[in-house]
Amino acid sequence: MAGSIADTFKKRFDMPVFCTKCGAQNDDGSVVCSHCQATLPLVGYQPPQAQADYQSGYQPIQPPAPLYQPGGGQDWQARGANKKIAAGICGLLLGPFGVHKFILGYQTEGVIMLLVSLLSCGMLAIVMQVIGIVEGIMYLTKSDEEFVRTYVEGRKGWF
Ligand SMILES: [Zn+2]
Repeated sequence: MAGSIADTFKKRFDMPVFCTKCGAQNDDGSVVCSHCQATLPLVGYQPPQAQADYQSGYQPIQPPAPLYQPGGGQDWQARGANKKIAAGICGLLLGPFGVHKFILGYQTEGVIMLLVSLLSCGMLAIVMQVIGIVEGIMYLTKSDEEFVRTYVEGRKGWF
């Protein structure tokens, strides 16, 4: 198989050279045309202009840029918007336990909600429940971008 690849490679560059003046076919490696004696283009030769274009257009290999990213090129899901649904639902259902706060990394706020609910023997849990529902709705109604800016990057602990 290696032989056939080498043959293909060789064949590709072992092409007859055509004279740019008279169009006569010359053997590969010929320097001057056998017909009109004109200088023949070398194999692999590029006109200076094309070479300059090639060099100016050359760039190191880079990962392909994504064609389109919503939110102005920001990947909001990767930046925390993926927590939005979980935090919102936990806010609605588990508000008194501060679970949605912990999901967002708000340890202090989560502990406060949990302790208020527990230390009041559940009497203030209803208040925490209301707060959780309101916050859960706020999380869920925000766009990914708003959510990230407000709660992930803005670190807005309450509402
Ligand atoms: Zn010629």
